[in-house]
Amino acid sequence: MIRLGLKPGREASVARRHPWLFSGALASREGDGSDGHAEIVDSRGRALARGSYSPESQIVARLWTFDGRLPDASLFRERFQTARRLRQAIVPPDTTGFRAINSEGDLCPGVVMDVYGEVAVLELLTEGTEKWESDLTDAAREVFSPPKIIVRRTGADRDAGSRPESRIQNSKSKIEVVPFTENGLRFFADIPGGQKTGFFLDQRDNRIRLRALAAGRTVLNLFSYTGAFSVAALAGGAARAVDVDSSEAALDLSRQHRRANGFPAGDCDFVRADVFEDLRRRVEAGETWGIVVCDPPAFARKRGDVPRAARGYKDINRLAMELVEPGGWLLTCSCSGQISPDLFQKIVFSASLDAGRSFSLAARQGAGADHPVSLDCPEGEYLKGLWLSREI
Ligand code: SAH
Repeated sequence: MIRLGLKPGREASVARRHPWLFSGALASREGDGSDGHAEIVDSRGRALARGSYSPESQIVARLWTFDGRLPDASLFRERFQTARRLRQAIVPPDTTGFRAINSEGDLCPGVVMDVYGEVAVLELLTEGTEKWESDLTDAAREVFSPPKIIVRRTGADRDAGSRPESRIQNSKSKIEVVPFTENGLRFFADIPGGQKTGFFLDQRDNRIRLRALAAGRTVLNLFSYTGAFSVAALAGGAARAVDVDSSEAALDLSRQHRRANGFPAGDCDFVRADVFEDLRRRVEAGETWGIVVCDPPAFARKRGDVPRAARGYKDINRLAMELVEPGGWLLTCSCSGQISPDLFQKIVFSASLDAGRSFSLAARQGAGADHPVSLDCPEGEYLKGLWLSREI
């Protein structure tokens, strides 16, 4: 256990129970943090919190308790049980893929677990939680009893500033393709080849809404990845759904998902292209679509990326808006934590001015309730989805 001493006057964020402790707030580090445990003390040596220690990270500790309790196997079990009760209450029927543990949102900073049918993917996002692997894995086994657990340790990579996703995508490790269901539709999670832990579970509520709106419509699914939005649209009776993605592997997964759900698909339903270029071509050709879905990767990963990301979101939304037929819909999303909901809405508004099209905001829909956000850590709310209907 290492004792991390705060500089005088730097207690406010810990006093508000914010789970992130930045290294700039530290005056001293005493002891040995090799077991991943940190105790936070104020400038007079009084204990304030305990958590996991990540010496190389800017967020040098993630705080788990503020009452002196040690984060240990019994605490992990309690927190996991609370997380499990929430899922039992809110995961819809015929759904075996869901987020079981959502890091800060379940008071388990640095720990995420996604369940796909028979397989649970436990992801340790920080160096500190990697040190607790054995207790965390045992607790997850005990509380969730998954037939199989895969552990992904991505903390040290993240701390070193690299993106573990790219390493995992390029690694030769065996890819597990695991079947699961969502609202009765059949999907496969590509583990550990895929992004995140294999599938964007956070978009479930947007897929349900798309399904409800899709009957008889044509759907253009931009940045389609697994093609899950298209499958939901076809399940809702869409006339046609076209996936656009730059990755052939992603489009392959889309093809499999359509087959698994009994939806015939031709080659022209899968377009391998850069979305920006593809949209310009479609706008020039005067195409129109009943529903356009635009769910790109995060354009901003750090604060400095925000101005460039804002331009990217504006460009792509302007082009997407030009393709929506009168009375049609645009679902536009941003998963950049750095772009606030307010800023995103302003960007989208400004895109509609440039496109010369009027839209009404019919609904805001972020991540589903299996991605809870702790009030202590509002940064956990990253996904923004705006449902925009074009006037007739
Ligand atoms: N909408 C998806 C998630 C998007 S993930 C879903 O619902 O699951 C981001 C996807 O965008 C990845 O599949 C990636 O291959 C693709 N991508 C990233 N940049 C792109 C670009 N410029 N043009 C086309 N696809 C891109």
